[in-house]
Amino acid sequence: MERFRMYIGGEWCAAVGGETFASMNPATGENWADIPKGDSRDVDIAVRAAHRAFTEGPWPAMTASARGMLLHRLGDLIAQNAERLADLEVRDNGKLRAEMLGQMKYLPQWFYYFGGMADKIEGAVTPIDKPGMFHYVSYEPLGVVAAIAPWNSPLLLATWKIAPALAAGNTIVVKPSEFSSASTLLLAELVEQAGVPAGVFNVVTGFGLDVGEPLVKHPLVARVAFTGSDAGGRRVYQNAAADFKRVSLELGGKSANVVFEDADLEEAAKGVLSGVFAATGQTCMAGSRLLVQRSVHDRLVQRLVELMGDARLGDPLDPSTHVGPVSTPPQLEKVLQYIDIARREGARCVLGGGRSTRPGCEKGLFVEPTIFTGVNNRMRIAQEEVFGPLLVVIPFDTEDEAVALANDTQYGLAAGVWTGDMERALTLPKRIQAGTVWVNAYRVVSYMAPFGGFKSSGIGRENGQRAIYEYLEAKSVYINPKPRIANPFVLG
Ligand code: NAD
Repeated sequence: MERFRMYIGGEWCAAVGGETFASMNPATGENWADIPKGDSRDVDIAVRAAHRAFTEGPWPAMTASARGMLLHRLGDLIAQNAERLADLEVRDNGKLRAEMLGQMKYLPQWFYYFGGMADKIEGAVTPIDKPGMFHYVSYEPLGVVAAIAPWNSPLLLATWKIAPALAAGNTIVVKPSEFSSASTLLLAELVEQAGVPAGVFNVVTGFGLDVGEPLVKHPLVARVAFTGSDAGGRRVYQNAAADFKRVSLELGGKSANVVFEDADLEEAAKGVLSGVFAATGQTCMAGSRLLVQRSVHDRLVQRLVELMGDARLGDPLDPSTHVGPVSTPPQLEKVLQYIDIARREGARCVLGGGRSTRPGCEKGLFVEPTIFTGVNNRMRIAQEEVFGPLLVVIPFDTEDEAVALANDTQYGLAAGVWTGDMERALTLPKRIQAGTVWVNAYRVVSYMAPFGGFKSSGIGRENGQRAIYEYLEAKSVYINPKPRIANPFVLG
């Protein structure tokens, strides 16, 4: 077992209570890491350290350019350690090493992009409508940010919070998922190496109720950035509301991938498969509802089954593997339950449909990639997020019907449209209620492009230039150079 420690106030420490918990490798079923089990006492120490670092010492005195350079240095260190970081993530969540390594190699871009923005946050002088008065707007950091991340892309989703929050001059306490703490603790080592002052970046490991809740409720936390389930997000929103903390929530989805008869069907088939089965379906943006025009329904389904039938399940560390295990035991249970629900609702299973019995998959948490046809959009299997390798197929006849089906969900995270018709490519994104719409593509993200949800998929946006303003507060300053208060009882 590898032993990890938390990083609080520039120190490496065990939990105050001395307890630890194990992290399991989902590909082998074996526990591999020993992680400190923090609680509200550790949270309090970390938040106080972050608050101190925000109000005194080198961080608030540092120029924005110097802050940006630190983030650049951190980006370089991440690039140099991409392999180590990827290995830890694969061991924790079982996603393909190729995907995790790709993410780790891309991660530095967030630190370069937001680091570069640190000294470009300009205020403005206002041509204010008050004679003799001088007015300007400045943008100021909020204070201590609490960043709470899920297990599916642990560091990528933490980075979407860490990079803009620190670039804006805040300090941060990160709480990784209890299923995937290791890579965030290695990141803390790199933060220390980069020379980020003590207390600016802290990591408290542990469970949602023990660490996440007290972190959100802590009176010295100014801003909460959460990525996770609807249930977690609802609790976070309620708890943060008690003292009006700023909140962003990146939650679930049931995203539609819409294929029209005029699409390049071969490309669409590949896009649909990678949209839902990559990362074993465990991405918030998974295109888990395939809406397909009836005229090409059978052809497309047949091609999906053919292509997916050849997919290799197995060890995520093996470069020839196409689909890895489901990441956690509760997730495995959930996926199997939804396969049952789909059958009971009358959907027809045309591929997979259960736990994998392939050689090499016996001990891990493997589920066969599963496709259900004969689904209608009112079924639970079409409305509820499964977060696993499960695709439901729903036919439609007209464009209007496709739009209505795509929007008939509580979620609004993402959608894909596959078409060869330029007019449709240009007009459909506007009609679909989702934070991201891809046309003839799926599951593309960039540090430059805003990401977030409509409706129940969340609040706020990460990435893109405006994301940094989610970690800043506008301040309005009036300066009266020559006070002449004519009548103190009338506001001027
Ligand atoms: P989760 O809600 O169970 O946990 C997410 C994090 O929140 C964990 O660190 C957990 O410990 C913590 N947490 C749980 N309860 C909490 C509480 N009451 N207060 C504070 N923190 C709490 O979610 P998960 O299972 O780790 O992640 C999967 C979910 O995340 C899926 O629903 C998926 O769609 C969503 N997700 C969304 C995005 C996005 O950008 N929209 C990205 C990835 C994952």
